[in-house]
Order: sequence, then C-alpha cells, then structure tokens
Amino acid sequence: MFDTILIANRGEIACRVIRSARRLGVRAVAVYSEADAAARHVRMADAAVCIGPAAARESYLNIERIIAAAKEMGAQAIHPGYGFLSENEDFAQACAAAGLVFIGPPVAAIRAMGSKSAAKALMEKAGVPLVPGYHGDNQDATFLAGEAARIGWPVLIKASAGGGGKGMRIVRAAAEFADALASCRREAAASFGDDRVLVEKYLERPRHIEMQVFGDTQGNVVHLFERDCSVQRRHQKVIEEAPAPGMTAGRRAAMGKAAVDAAKAVGYVGAGTVEFIVAADGTFHFMEMNTRLQVEHPVTEMITGLDLVEWQLRVAAGEPLPLTQEQLSIRGHAIEARIYAEDPGKGFLPSTGRLVHLAPPAESLHVRVDAGVEEGDAITPHYDPMIAKLIVHGETRERACALMLQALAQYRVVGVANNVEFLSRLVACPAFAQADLDTGLIEREHDFLFASKAAPPREAWLAAALAELLREQAAADAAAQKDADPHSPWHRRDGWRVNLGVSRRLTFRCGETTRVVGVAYVGNAYRLELDGQSTLAGGEMLPGSQLRADFGGNRCAATVVVAGERRHVFLHGRCFVLAAVDPLYHAGEGGGAEGGLTAPMPGKVIALVARAGDKMEKGAPLLILEAMKMEHTICAPTAGTVKSFRYAVGEQVADGADLVDFEPAK
Ligand code: ADP
Ligand code: ADP
Ligand code: MG
Repeated sequence: MFDTILIANRGEIACRVIRSARRLGVRAVAVYSEADAAARHVRMADAAVCIGPAAARESYLNIERIIAAAKEMGAQAIHPGYGFLSENEDFAQACAAAGLVFIGPPVAAIRAMGSKSAAKALMEKAGVPLVPGYHGDNQDATFLAGEAARIGWPVLIKASAGGGGKGMRIVRAAAEFADALASCRREAAASFGDDRVLVEKYLERPRHIEMQVFGDTQGNVVHLFERDCSVQRRHQKVIEEAPAPGMTAGRRAAMGKAAVDAAKAVGYVGAGTVEFIVAADGTFHFMEMNTRLQVEHPVTEMITGLDLVEWQLRVAAGEPLPLTQEQLSIRGHAIEARIYAEDPGKGFLPSTGRLVHLAPPAESLHVRVDAGVEEGDAITPHYDPMIAKLIVHGETRERACALMLQALAQYRVVGVANNVEFLSRLVACPAFAQADLDTGLIEREHDFLFASKAAPPREAWLAAALAELLREQAAADAAAQKDADPHSPWHRRDGWRVNLGVSRRLTFRCGETTRVVGVAYVGNAYRLELDGQSTLAGGEMLPGSQLRADFGGNRCAATVVVAGERRHVFLHGRCFVLAAVDPLYHAGEGGGAEGGLTAPMPGKVIALVARAGDKMEKGAPLLILEAMKMEHTICAPTAGTVKSFRYAVGEQVADGADLVDFEPAK
C-alpha cells in the first residue's frame, strides 16, 4: 500500500477519499485553489498545497502544477476524484511519466471510453447491446438528418465528447433537426472543444440503470450490482438508489455480464461505471462508460458494506480484488439525494453565498452525510454547487424512503437557495414512493413538486415571535451580568418601561402575508396574540438556533435561524422564511409610509440594484447592504420612483441612515 497519496480534487469527494486513506493509514495530501484556502478538504488533509487561482483551469485542471505538488510532497499516487481531471488521458499519462500511480484505469481504457461514439463502436464489437443510432465519423448535416430519419423520430443528438448532460438535444420531427444539430454543436464546441456528435433513438420513459464494475491488474473484473439513477433534471441525476426497483435476478445477471464484458473489452482496471438506458419493456442498451468513481457510489457501498475507495487504493497498489463475484451480495436498500445550492423554483439555477447555518441530520448506521462544506463556508461561483450527499440505508425500499424523508426534514440550510424541500417532495411524491421511475418523473410530477408554498401555520409565526423574545431576554441577561448593578430595572426584559405599557407588537412578513403578534409579559412567559387568538408561550433557545417551545401546553421543537432581517423557521420538516419587520427601521413596510428608507444596521452599500429615476413596484429591490457578513436587500416600501441614492457603492452607512429618496406613486 502507498504511504502518501495526493488528491487532485476538492469538495465532498476530496473529503471522502481522505477519510478512507486515513482509515488505511495512508497520508493524504490535498491541493487547493486560492478560493479554497480555508475549505474543509484542506482542513481535513494531512498536508495541503496551493496550486493556483480560483479558476479551475489554473488550479484543479493544471496538470503540471498538480504533478509537481505530488512530487514535492512525496506522494506515490494521485486520486483524481470525479470531474476535473478524472477522465483526462493526458493527466493519467503525465502521472505515469512522472513515476506516479494514477488511481484509475489505464490510459488506453480512458481513451477508448472518452468518446461516446468510439466507445459505442467498440461495444458493438464486444457484443454489448446499443441504442439504435449513428456513431460514425461522417458529420455532414444532411447525412446526419438522413440517419435520424432512418433511426426514426424522436432522436437524441449527443456530443461525442459530452458529459454532464451538455449539448443533448431531443428532436421530434425532421423540420427541427438542422437547428437542434447546430445548437448541439455550438454547446459541444464551447464545453468540450469538440463539436462531433452522434445520433441515437430517443427512448420514451426510459430508466437509467448503471452497473458498478471493478477490475484489477490480474485481469479479474466483477460487478457490484446496479444503481437506478432515473430521477433526473436536465439529464442530470438528483436521486440515485440501489438496488434498482423491480430488478430481477435474471436481468441483473445479464446487465452485469454486459458491463463486465464492456470493461474487459478495454482492459479495465479500477472502479468504473457502465451506464445503460433501459426501455419500458426492460430491454437495456449501453449508453456510455464513466472511467472513474461515480458521485453516487455511496449507495453501492451501503448495500454491499464495502468501501470502494479502499478497493481503488488496493487495486492501484497492485493487490487483487478483495472479493470474487460469488462473494458479493446485496443487503437492504440505499438511496442518495444530492443536496445542491440551487433554486428548484427558478429552473434549478445555482445559488452562491455563505452557509450562515448548516445543520445536517446526525449520522448513524443508517444515515450518511458526505459533505465538502461546513457552516460558515461559502458556495462560490467557481465550482459545482453541491453542498452534500445524503445517503440512507434501510432493510427495504420503503424503510429507506422513510429514513430519507426524516433525514431531509432534519436538514437545515440557510444562506443559499437549496433543494432540500424539493427533495422532500420528490421522495414523498406517489410516483417515487411506488417506484414508478423513469427519467421524465420530475417533469411529469411538476404540479406536485412545484406546488406553491403553503402559508406558514400559526405555530411558525409564534415560534418566530418567541425566538425573538427569548433572544432579547438572553441578550439582556448577558448585559446585566456585565453591569455593576445587575438588578437595575433597565435590564429587565419583561416589558417594563417607564411610562410604557407592558404590551408590544412584533411584525413578520412572509411573501405577501404580514402578521402582527401581540406580546404581553406574564412572569417568565408571554401571552402571544395572533389573529385574535391568544396563546401562553414559554421556552428556551438551545445552541444551534434550536427553539424548545411550549405553546399553551403543546410542546414544539423548531429551529429559528436569524440571517439579517430574515427568520428561517424550520418546523415539522418544512422551512418558512419570515422577514422581521421592525416598524422603527422600516417605516414603509406593510403600510403606505413616505420618504426615505433607512439602514437597519451599520454596514456597507455593495450594490445599487435600481437607478435614480426608475419606477419601482412595491417590494422591488433598490439596493443591497452588507452588514454583519450578511447581505440585506432594501426594497421599495410601495410602488413609486427612486429620486436619488444617498450613498455610492462601497460607502459605509450608519445605523438608521437614510439611504434613498423615494417618491411613492400617487
Ligand atoms: P455522475 O454520473 O457521477 O453524476 P457527472 O457527469 O454528473 O457524473 O459529473 C460528475 C461530477 O463531476 C458532477 O457533480 C460535476 O459537478 C463534476 N464535474 C464534471 N465535470 C467537471 C469539470 N470539468 N469541472 C469540475 N467539475 C466537474
Ligand atoms: P452524460 O455524459 O451527460 O452523462 P449520457 O449519455 O450518460 O450523457 O446521458 C445522460 C442522460 O440522458 C441519461 O441518464 C438519460 O436520462 C438521458 N438519455 C441518454 N440517452 C438517451 C436515449 N437514447 N433516450 C432517452 N434518454 C437518453
Ligand atoms: Mg452519463
């Protein structure tokens, strides 16, 4: 076994490889870009080397720099992770030339599978079933249109060098072919520097089922069963599971044999995945082979009880495969959900920002969280917006689904848009629950998955109010501790004020809905009044923004995270974002106030979203302030016109400063 390896990657996969290396007593060296100096994989590694600026091209894709770092740190081998250089034959070649072991397949196998077209030609020879199509060298548009007509509509045009769903175009009629081809070529040239394409029969309602294969240097190849990755958006996986629902022993054996044949045909060594597209009638066809560890490998680990990174290291060190095909078996059912910083409501647009609050569910024998970030870290525009992978393992698929729902309900992310609630709906949707899977599931279930968000329940408004009061109380207690006269009435937070009554009003807004919670102080508790109904409330704030509340004798556990003026209320597995409306600072909110808008706290203007003279709708963003490491958007209090901004970008503003001259519409 090696004593030192270098990991040429970042994020969760780098962390995951480090974990296995450590367990095997292998030293793990990380590499990082300037943007990742404080990243989790750097903190976890035994040593780390900076390899350049944020742009991947200049760091994680910089072959020379990575090889030099490996030499410098005394590594004997390089693990490429997935993405980046993992399927780059020049990199594998450069490792060999430098006397380093590339923890992956031989250069020739990467090359053979690098082009989808060439791979299909090779697989045809090896007797592996293919989707009908054209994958030859002739790239003439008229010729390809002829081939498409021969194959029969609909067809799929793919970039030969493709990956990540890029370039793929479905064509349903001859008249659309030329435009789709041109647009696929443009995207392929831009993404892969290669505009060659192939044309395939487009299968309706297919499933994506892939086989995990493993080979060693002694010529053994086994398969570690299948994964069903049918649940996709934009031809990219979101949820993966193993085993595939409905798989029969006979079909598994046939697909396993085809996958092993495919691997053997290219002299495969190490971990690889043979992807098949499976038609509604169960017939399967080779799609492509990914010559690396796959993002979704943990579901295979869960059902086999194996560590695939350990297998990779052993095989790369020249050891034989630890188990034979006969010794491998499946236990239970595993599901993985990819937690992304993306907004499902906006076409899954990636989101960036700081993870103000990040609390994954507790890990156990049944729940695994593979993360590359921790609370306080940022999701930057430089790299993939994946926050973590959540993997669960149950005795049956039904158990696994229940565990997944429970774990998702506990997952709390604040600071970036994320898909946690979307994933919950996905797992809960009847089609998924009944394993009625195919690659069109998300589109077909659109109405269920994207149903507009329910209004916050009464408890959510009460929780937000109670958390506010308890935090104030804690702050007052802390201040009193420091003060000479801790019993001074000025520290009291029971509503006592000179010449003031003992009731207050807390205002919160969620979307278009504004609610006012009346507060009366009753000893150590509060009487909260909402919608004419009053509730006696008490409780405490625990670390991690957790609220233990008692509403009229009903216990309630919630999490209330403060981010600027927002209150993220996690309750019963859902998240409601309420804005705390402070009438002192936001004269305009909820009412028809006139005049300037003020800074809610001292900060810096980081962007002017509107321009002087712009006519704004109520609630439209005017400018963005950065305060307390958070961004705060100042919005138009009513419809009206921006007359002028009082501060320029970069200027500091004091607490309460007037920011904008704003003229409400008549
Ligand atoms: P899988 O089939 O394992 O999901 P994908 O083709 O979706 O594989 O890509 C694997 C991962 O690698 C993705 O999460 C993607 O973010 C990442 N990736 C792919 N290409 C690149 C690249 N050029 N640079 C950085 N990351 C990449
Ligand atoms: P990538 O390199 O982007 O992973 P793939 O060839 O593996 O490209 O295809 C990605 C996805 O596109 C598949 O998982 C599947 O959902 C869909 N797809 C690919 N080929 C077909 C096909 N012939 N018919 C229908 N869907 C397909
Ligand atoms: Mg693929």
